[in-house]
Amino acid sequence: MAVSQKVKKEYLALVGELNKHNDLYHNQDSPEITDQEYDQLFKRLLILEDEFPNIKTSNSPSERVGSGRVSDLKPFNHTIPMLSLDNAFDDMDLEDFEKRMSNKLKREESFSYSCEPKIDGIAICLVYQDGILTRAGTRGDGNTGEEVTHNVKTMKGIPLQLKKSKNYPYPQKIEIRGEIYVEKKDFINMNLKFKEEGQKVFANPRNFAAGSMRQLNPKVASSRPLKVFCHSLGYVDEKTFFDSQSSVIEAFQAWELPTCPEILLASNLEETKKAFSNIENKREKLVYEIDGVVVKVNEIKLQQELGFSSRAPRWAIARKFESEQAETKIKSISFQMGRTGALTPVANLEPVKVGGVTISNATLHNMDEIERLDIREQDYVFIKRAGDVIPKITSVIKEKRSGSEKKITLPSSCNVCKRKISYFEQNIPCLEVSLETEFLADCYGYDQFKESLKHFVSRNAMDIEGLGSKTIDALISNKFICSIDGLYSLNLNQLLSLEGFAEKSAKNLIESILKSKDTDLYRFIYSLGIKEIGLQTSKNIAKELGTLENIIETSYERFIQVEDIGEVAASNLVSFFGNKKYLKILENFQKLNLNLSNKISNNQEGHLQNKKIVITGTLSNYSRNELKENLEKMGAKVTSSVSKNSDYLISGSEPGSKFKKASELNIKIIDEDNLTSFLLNE
Ligand SMILES: [Zn+2]
Repeated sequence: MAVSQKVKKEYLALVGELNKHNDLYHNQDSPEITDQEYDQLFKRLLILEDEFPNIKTSNSPSERVGSGRVSDLKPFNHTIPMLSLDNAFDDMDLEDFEKRMSNKLKREESFSYSCEPKIDGIAICLVYQDGILTRAGTRGDGNTGEEVTHNVKTMKGIPLQLKKSKNYPYPQKIEIRGEIYVEKKDFINMNLKFKEEGQKVFANPRNFAAGSMRQLNPKVASSRPLKVFCHSLGYVDEKTFFDSQSSVIEAFQAWELPTCPEILLASNLEETKKAFSNIENKREKLVYEIDGVVVKVNEIKLQQELGFSSRAPRWAIARKFESEQAETKIKSISFQMGRTGALTPVANLEPVKVGGVTISNATLHNMDEIERLDIREQDYVFIKRAGDVIPKITSVIKEKRSGSEKKITLPSSCNVCKRKISYFEQNIPCLEVSLETEFLADCYGYDQFKESLKHFVSRNAMDIEGLGSKTIDALISNKFICSIDGLYSLNLNQLLSLEGFAEKSAKNLIESILKSKDTDLYRFIYSLGIKEIGLQTSKNIAKELGTLENIIETSYERFIQVEDIGEVAASNLVSFFGNKKYLKILENFQKLNLNLSNKISNNQEGHLQNKKIVITGTLSNYSRNELKENLEKMGAKVTSSVSKNSDYLISGSEPGSKFKKASELNIKIIDEDNLTSFLLNE
């Protein structure tokens, strides 16, 4: 068939696009599109190549598996090519897959399948010679990968020597294939740590695993919580005792190689579809990321008869989870009160599954975001979820509007206690709640206290482990705590009466609360959440004023001499320490015998340490206070006006005169698009 110019153009654009994303993904560990988006583009490419065989170019991504090597690591040649899998996006694709196999083998009976969660990590090949781990390599382009033995040997989960087994004596030489991954919680924690240290953060767990494996220095990989699941064979001397994929897994287990515990066997295609749903339903609860289910013909003899196409085995397919975008309806918009008295709109959605996870609300950041997207109550919207990121509304489906949608306005007062929003803006910090009015979960005062308590226990503040948002909520709603110092009067029985607490976890929490009494003075000052007093300012106060008693007695004139403290911060401090309500709470703390030490260790490594930064304009993804706090945590000084001493101006939309002044003074300007990479020093 002749190829029209239009098709050719589309095809070449696809090739270029896919190659670009391959490079971003494999060589730079920083993908710009989701796997689903990539898969869709790739599927379209295959359709075009199928329909117009002459169109195919030599650089088509369909000719390659993944991408080549780019690092300084030694090449690792695969004895048997390490291919990737074809994808199935729905049940029909699965049925076609079986039909192709039946045709190829001229077989009428059904196939039995091994259904295995498709781990979102990086493929690895482990070579064992006489039971000893001798080499390990990544997939690379399928024929040649990278030698990563030095890194793999640091992973505790991978045996350096296979365990001897009577039923499964290991062959002289065997290649074992698996997937190296990182658990979701470890990934989040590592990224938090990197962020704090000003290092590059990873887009998803797989990039994290890949980036860790690619290191030349094995110390890096050994410091990272990498795990492995082994799932199939590469080259083997003798295959005799492997008659099925299940026996392969059994042998791995006998040799003490880690395997995925969620593998299901299906005796036909219908059962395979059920197994897929079962695994998909479990997805949310699994501690590692999966993006589909690998369906493998279970019988090894049939696998061998089916063999390979140029790109993939014919006997296995990856059934992918549905796309990570979904359509749903906004039931209502509610507002969440923050610690600083600012309201954040949240969309309450008709529950919808996005990539196997049920989503029922999405944050809208601020009113500007609502205006930008023109979001109304009862609107139909598209939502998207990428990796572990909070779901986001991407657009409104305006064609679906009936006319009854409601515009959203910011509330002017609390529905429960009727106080004006301005009251909450002034009520900072909010260190206690009144038992009469605010103990209704819908009162903004209640929320504000909850947020203050969260701040109090957070990592840079009192650093109390095991006290998550849910627990804080339960502690307050059960009236166990109505003032932040009340945290230290919690008892074991109270905790045991809460859902999710057992003897051990309750004891641990009490212990970490008590442990927090020994802390740094600056942490305690910071934990109070006084307006404008961030981490760095708290350090300066502690450094110059020495003790809590001293700080309480300090005058405005003295505060203003402390490094970094301006008129506003000084008067906030004076009004805080002059307020009877707060003094009573501080008195309670003093009765608790806090041991506040005063050894200031200035974190001088951060790239923003001592930088003077000004913020202007409207930011859509950050609240100004949050941003300011973050900057201060990183050691920066946030000032209110631009001068020749300023280092940076962070500029949102519609900046005013500060922007002009900064440009005139040649101060470096950071717009919101570059803000994240600026903060991360990328
Ligand atoms: Zn209220």
